[in-house]
Order: sequence, then C-alpha cells, then structure tokens
Amino acid sequence: MRSLDDLLAEGVSGRRVLVRADLNVPLDKQTREITDDGRIRASLPSIQALRDGGARVVVAAHLGRPKGTPDPQFSLAPVAARLGELLGTDVELAADVAGDDARAKAAALGDGDVLLLENVRFEAAETSKDDAERGELADRLAALADVYVDDAFGAVHRKHASVYDVALRLPHVAGRLVATELDVLTRLTSDPARPYVVVLGGSKVSDKLAVIEALLPKVDRLLVGGGMCFTFLAAQGHGVGTSLLEADQVDTCRRLLAEAGDRIVLPVDVVAASAFSADAETAVVDVDAIPDDRMGLDVGPRTVEVFGRELGGARTVFWNGPMGVFEMAPFQAGTRGVAQAVAAVDGLSVVGGGDSAAAVRTLGLDEAAYGHISTGGGASLEYLEGRELPGLAVLTEGGAA
Ligand code: ADP
Ligand code: MG
Repeated sequence: MRSLDDLLAEGVSGRRVLVRADLNVPLDKQTREITDDGRIRASLPSIQALRDGGARVVVAAHLGRPKGTPDPQFSLAPVAARLGELLGTDVELAADVAGDDARAKAAALGDGDVLLLENVRFEAAETSKDDAERGELADRLAALADVYVDDAFGAVHRKHASVYDVALRLPHVAGRLVATELDVLTRLTSDPARPYVVVLGGSKVSDKLAVIEALLPKVDRLLVGGGMCFTFLAAQGHGVGTSLLEADQVDTCRRLLAEAGDRIVLPVDVVAASAFSADAETAVVDVDAIPDDRMGLDVGPRTVEVFGRELGGARTVFWNGPMGVFEMAPFQAGTRGVAQAVAAVDGLSVVGGGDSAAAVRTLGLDEAAYGHISTGGGASLEYLEGRELPGLAVLTEGGAA
C-alpha cells in the first residue's frame, strides 16, 4: 500500500488530487450546525500536506443517508464552511457530485486550492450493488483528477463508488488518517499487551455480535453496557422491563455466556427510566429488579465501579459504544465514568465509533488522554473481526501512483 508521503515525494504541484475524506459529522437537527467536527479535523493533515505541495485538491465525502438523490438537508454546505475555517482558506462547494458544475470548478482550481464535491450519496450509484452503475459514477469522479488519495477510514468497509471503484481507475495511495488508523488497529490485533479489555456498548447487539464472537477468544475481559447489555441480561434470565431487547438474539447471547461467561462482564445495576426522555422519572436499580414498566437507559454507579476495576488493571483497551443514552443528561454518568476509566489506562487505549468519539468530546473529556480516537466505528469493528475491507484491499492492488 503506497502512502501519502510516497505521492508527495513524487511531487503533486499542479496535479489534481481526488481525496475521499470522511466528513460525516453530526448536525443539529434544528439549526443544521455541526455538533462535533472531529472527523473534519482528522481529515486536515492529508489535505493540508497536499495543499502545501501545490496540489489542486478535490474532496469527495458523504453526509448521512440521503436517498440517492439531492436533498438540501444533507448538503455538505456546513462542512465546506467549517473545512475552510480550519484550513484558513475558501473551500468551494460544487453544486453536484461529478456533473457539469464539479467539472467546471475542478478545472478552475489553482495550485493549493480545495474544492468539495457535493454529498456523494446524492448519486444512487455511490452505494449501488451493481458494478456497472458504480463504475459509471467512478468514471466521472476519476475524470476530475489525476490521482486518488483514500483518507476516508470511516468508509473503507464499504464497496462504494468513491471508496472502491474510483481506486481501480486512478493511481492511488492511502492518506494520513487511514495510515494512522491502520497502525493502531494493527497494534490491537498483533500481540496486544495484557490484560486486554474490550468495552462494548451502543444500541444494537445484532450490529456487534460478529465482533463479539471474533474478539472473545482474544480478550481477557469483555465489558458489555449500553442498550445491548439487556439482551445479555435477558439471556441470564433477568426481566428487562421495556429496555431495548433483541429477542431473536437472546439464544446467541446465552451461548456466548455459556462459552465465555468467565470473560464477559455485565452490568450489576442500571438507571431505569419511566420513558425515553430527558425529564423521565429515574431510579438506580439492580439488574435483577428492573420494574416491568421501566427501561434501562444507562448503567448504574456500581457498574461503573466494577468496569473501572477491570479497566484499572488493563494494559490494552478498546472501547466502542456509549454505556447509555448519553445524549440526554440524566443518562450520561455511565458513559462519562467509563470514558474516564479508559482515559486513565496505563497502556494503549483506543476509542472507536462515531458516537463514542462524540461522547468523549461532548462530555468535555480530554481527547489527549486517549492513545487514539478512531473516526471509524463500523470500519474498525470489521477490521477487528478480521474481515477484508474493500476500500483497503483495493489500495494494495495495482495502479502505482
Ligand atoms: P458508536 O457510534 O460509538 O459505534 P452506536 O452507534 O453503536 O455507537 O450506539 C450509540 C447509541 O446507542 C447512542 O445514540 C446511545 O443513545 C444509544 N444507547 C446507549 N445505551 C442505550 C440504551 N440503554 N438504550 C437505548 N439506546 C442506548
Ligand atoms: Mg453510531
């Protein structure tokens, strides 16, 4: 896999470089303001290095899940503005992905200029299962540049036109962010310092069962919180009230507990709420006493202590998924407590997942206390599962830059 430094050493002055970045930031639903610009900041090193080398930079990115057609709600306009602020230059936004306006604006770029293409998911072909459909969009994207830099770590697990197919059409290298993320994941997978503790939370157990199966043989402890813990608690025979429960996964969780129950650590108490709301009535209850009409929206203080003890002795930690509905103040304490314990780890601590990374920042924790905060939740989980990621595989094949 060639690196950005290889490309810079060749010289990029005057060359048009297509950078696939991950600029998929959370927006406030009402104001459409960016609530966490972490992914934009993580994309700066590659873009800045290319500008410094005199490249004409064309950035492709997605935002949210528009339905394959232009939708102003998902426009990258706020992202173009923020990217420009952070780079200290004007970043123009094309009105389309790879149409007439993108072509005209890409052709007009001067050395060191940056153009952002409109949300690539405004084209249905971006995410199409059909190779020819994706190929047609990839042809148009490739025509905008002479070389391709993939820096969208958060999207490398997707076989999408701007991630995969375009790399088949242009000389390509991995960007700085992709290189950093891979370096950290390699440290997690090859002989991690022990004890190796993984903390998983978030909403759906079904999203994360594959990674649980893959990690269980490798970890010393797996701590489970968040919405997904209730399917495990149900598998242990506890009533979980109206908490998030994936009934079709209970048997799988039961099997995992039978196989590796000594390594799986579940909550001992939860914050039970009368409704999914910031002004719900709440009470801390033990996991064997969750009332039928209450839902668990955070792990309780004793659980934070138990998890903290496990984390205190760890030398390698990977944490993915908030412990509770941290977006609402009454359900933040579990995530904050675990985030603090992960930050205090004496060894390598890695936070993966869009919401987990956002939690670290919005709860006011010190980002510098972590070994690494990954920009890619799904991508890092699939990597840890040992799956081949299409966007990485394609970078290692052919097409020298
Ligand atoms: P990440 O993006 O870090 O991978 P996920 O997307 O898997 O994390 O999950 C994050 C979401 O999980 C958050 O929006 C949070 O509100 C939700 N969540 C956490 N705990 C619970 C719970 N007990 N009940 C319902 N939702 C929860
Ligand atoms: Mg998420």
